[in-house]
Parts: sequence; C-alpha cells; structure tokens
Amino acid sequence: RHYAFHLWTSGMAFTLQERQILGLQGLLPPKIETQDIQALRFKRNLEKMTDPLEMYIYLMGIQERNERLFYRVLMEDIERLMPIVYTPTVGLACTRYGHIFRRPKGLFVSILDRGHIRSILDNWPETNVKAVVVTDGERILGLGDLGVYGMGIPVGKLCLYTACAGIRPESCLPVCIDVGTDNEMLLKDPFYMGLYQKRDRSQLYDDLIDEFMEAVVEKYGQDTLIQFEDFGNHNAFRFLRKYREKYCTFNDDIQGTASVALAGLLAAQRVIGKPITEHKVLFLGAGEAALGIANLIVMAMMEAGVSQAEARKKIWMFDKYGLLMQGRAQAIDSNQEVFAHPSPGDVQSFLDAVNTIRPTAIIGVAGAGPLFTRDVLAAMGTLNERPIIFALSNPTTKAECTAEDAYSLTQGRCLFASGSPFAPVTLSDGRVLTPGQGNNAYIFPGVALAVILSGVRHISDTIFLQAAKVSALLMPPKATGRLYPPLSNIREVSIRIAVKVVEYVYASGMAFHYPEPLDKDCFVRASVWNTQYDSFLPEIYEWPGTSHLPP
Ligand code: NAP
Ligand code: MN
Repeated sequence: RHYAFHLWTSGMAFTLQERQILGLQGLLPPKIETQDIQALRFKRNLEKMTDPLEMYIYLMGIQERNERLFYRVLMEDIERLMPIVYTPTVGLACTRYGHIFRRPKGLFVSILDRGHIRSILDNWPETNVKAVVVTDGERILGLGDLGVYGMGIPVGKLCLYTACAGIRPESCLPVCIDVGTDNEMLLKDPFYMGLYQKRDRSQLYDDLIDEFMEAVVEKYGQDTLIQFEDFGNHNAFRFLRKYREKYCTFNDDIQGTASVALAGLLAAQRVIGKPITEHKVLFLGAGEAALGIANLIVMAMMEAGVSQAEARKKIWMFDKYGLLMQGRAQAIDSNQEVFAHPSPGDVQSFLDAVNTIRPTAIIGVAGAGPLFTRDVLAAMGTLNERPIIFALSNPTTKAECTAEDAYSLTQGRCLFASGSPFAPVTLSDGRVLTPGQGNNAYIFPGVALAVILSGVRHISDTIFLQAAKVSALLMPPKATGRLYPPLSNIREVSIRIAVKVVEYVYASGMAFHYPEPLDKDCFVRASVWNTQYDSFLPEIYEWPGTSHLPP
C-alpha cells in the first residue's frame, strides 16, 4: 500500500532488521515491542476515556496509523467498541464530521466530477478492491440528510466487513457521493466539507450514479460487490431495481435489515412456539426498512405454505399520515400498495392501530423517536402473552422505545430488540433481562464475505432469506428470551452465515468461482484475514553450488 512503509505501520513492532533495511533505525525508540504490548497500551488509553466521541476520534486515529492493531483491539472488545465505530456513536460523529475532522478517509465523488469518475478511482491507491460501500448521505441513520458528513457510515460499515467477517481492509472501498445537501444547517456551516448547494435531483444525478457503477466495475471487475447504504427512500428503491440484475449489488437498509429482522422473528417463534405464519405484524414506518422486512416475511410465510395474498394480509404499516389503508387520501407509493388493506375501523393514532389490528409483533422503523409510548407498550402486553417489540430505528435517540420501558410495561414478558444497543434491564422483581441488538450488522458482513468468495454475480432476496434462517439458528438458547447473540459472538455468526450462503449459492447455481470448494467451512475460514503483522522483509536466500559464478 502506498503508505506500507510509513513509520507507524507496525510502529514499535518493526523488527531490528526491518528498521535497518527500511531506513527506520533511530526513528523509533530502541525497544522492539510486541503487538500484545501495543494492544495493551491502546486499551489502557481507551479505558481512561469516558466520552464516546473522544473514543471514536482516538480509534479512527489508530486505524490510520496501525490498521492491524486497530482491528485486533476492535475484535477483542467488539461488545464495547462496536457502539463507538458503529451505531450510535458513528451517528454523532457524522453530525460533527467537519468539526472533528483529522484526515480524510474514503473516496469522495462530487457531481462536479461528472465525466471523470474513472480517473478519480485511479487515484485510489488500492488495485484489488472487492467491495464498495457507497452513500449519498441523504438518510444517514435516522438523522436525515448529512451530505458528505455521511462518509462516517461507509467507513464504519466497512470496519465491520473486516472486524466481523475478516475481509481484508485493503479490498474495501468507502465512497461518498456528493450531489449537495438539503440540510440548511450544513449549508451554513463553515466547517461543512461538501458542495454548498441543494441536492441535485435532476437527470445529472442519475447519470452520475450510472457513471460511478460503470467506473467501479471497469476498474475492479464486474463481480465487485457494491453495497448501497443510507440513500433516501425514493432513490434506494429505484437504484435497487435498476441495478440488481446488472451489477453485484444490494441495499443494506432494505435487504440487510429485512434479514436481521426476520431472523429475530424466527428466533421469537422458537421461544414462544408460534409459527411465523400465525403472526400479525404492525410496522411503525413504511419506508426502506419496513418494506424490506415485510417482503422477506412474506417470502418466509410462503415457504411455510401460505399464499402471497394471505401473507400480505398479516402485515400492516403505519406511517407519518397514519395507517396505510386502501383509498386513503395521502399518497401510497407502488412499493407500499400491497400492504395497504381495507380500513379495519377508526384508527387515528398508532395506539388505535395496535388496539384495532391486535398485532403479535410491532416493528419500529420510522426513525422518528420514541413513538412506542407507554400506552402502546402496555397494550401489546395486554394483547399478547409474549409480545414481540422491535425498536429498530437508529441511533439510540431515534429508537421507538427504551429496553427498560418495553420490559417494565410488559412485566418482562416481551421479546425485545433494538437497532442500537441498550444495557441489560433489572426489573422490580430482580430479574435481569438482556436485550438483543436487531441490527443488520449481523447480516451484511457474512453475506458480503460469501458473495466475494463465491463470485456471485447478482444478489437475490433468497440469499437474505438463507442468511436470516441461519442466524435464527445461531440465536442464544431460548430460555434466555434473548433473540440475538451477544456482540462478542458476531464474528462467529458472520462466518457461519458466510458458510451457509456459500453452500446455498453453489447448490443453486449462483456461484461462479471454480473449482467449487469441497469443504465450504474450511474454505471460508481459510480466507479470513488476521491481524498478525506481516514481515516487511523480502525473501532472502542463497543459491546452491557455484554455477552462477564465473570460473
Ligand atoms: P425511510 O425509507 O425514510 O422510511 C421511514 C418511514 O418512516 C417512512 O415511511 C416515513 O413516512 C415514516 N415516518 C417518518 N416519521 C414518522 C412518524 N412520525 N410516524 C410514523 N411514521 C413516520 O427510512 P428507512 O431506511 O426505512 O429507515 C428508517 C429507520 O430505520 C432509521 O432510523 C434507520 O436508522 C433505521 N434502520 C435500522 C436498521 C437496523 O439494522 N436496525 C437498518 C436500516 C434502517 P414518510 O415517507 O411519509 O415520511
Ligand atoms: Mn443504513
């Protein structure tokens, strides 16, 4: 890599020979340090910090200076550090991106660069990119339009590609597309880092994304994985439809989220012994996440023998304008149509919807804050012995409810999961309940690894259905009532998902890397990147005999 011989690549862990050959002798303190000691120093410094944003800045600095050390520490303490490099802290970091800025990360493509994207890509130092995560910053978590400040998201997602699925960091490319921002605050912010203009919503924007897709595959190959992340609703669905048969691409907010939510429902089915087909699901929100989840639930119900029409009837959505009903005054788009049913009665509020529809599960994906009120939670507890309550909106401030409220208002009976982490809750009777994190982070790293390794050309929804089924099987024992594994297991979960998906894509003719590996488990595990330092020395050897010498 262009900075491979940077003084700090391995820091004080450079060996004496490396220091001499690379011209580093004297530029480092004399002690030759082990990575263990480096990691210990790093962890000690982190332990002293209490401010999550300060931790984020420190971690990102280590990522620049010593990538292997960064990933080692991240992987060793993922439960504590994932909430820093990922939701919720990454959300805070994005809102302050221009203020906490140290050094650029990732590739920036602006609408003024139209016609030159290939040459911009040629400036990126890596030649062997396998996966791209791209955003245009329009819907960063539940925080809205953050323009180029959204770059924190592709960077954070790709950290998890490596930390969770062992995908080599140099094969990952974070990209932020800048077509302007409609965020008035940013347009007045002297530290903002993108174009000071309103979002371009013209044909130029579409042309730019087209050119970007073409440039990526032209440079890195047709099977380069391109993950769309945190695009606005309209563009997310449009681009998924436009590109899914042409490129190796998926939309994480629609498809990854669908998979993790379905996994949670399948795990809940194990706990309460009620088949997926007997559930009635009410969504708060009717956007990318809601529709992605809903469609995957329909697929799972159809596999269990229910017709598509019957399955759709079991799913309801409530958005900004109220319940999605046939013939309501406010617009229902073509993606939502199939979940708009005849009016069930007089429904004004979300509480009315709960009481009228009597769902077994409510799933919050509106990004609009605590709308699962105490009344809503209590009603779910009255309607169901074991209500399913998912508050999936990110970051924590946008969650539909807290774990504490969900558990206490249902007397500890609910099966709860949240998009951002919540601490365990102690109930008044002394029971301690640990919520699971229903976040697509359990899905996309494993799916990405499988896709990269097996040479999948197009990513079908069935892949996400498979991923959901595997992860449901990996859930903690049902007695714990916890639907998602602890984050400390996320790496093993990702690897197992990758193995199953690799098995599935070879079995169904979607894999194009040959020869087909016999033992998929070995194949996947052998690919996993590790954080040991490589030697920087060239191979040095003697020739036998004297035939290379003149007589
Ligand atoms: P989206 O496509 O913009 O959808 C948001 C939906 O919520 C829209 O249907 C919107 O209605 C509706 N909504 C907005 N305010 C509302 C309100 N006050 N009451 C009821 N509905 C309201 O966004 P998305 O991609 O689905 O993401 C939504 C949230 O899910 C975000 O917070 C995001 O962080 C979270 N998410 C979580 C995960 C995870 O893995 N846990 C993954 C992806 C997304 P209108 O269209 O009418 O405004
Ligand atoms: Mn997202």
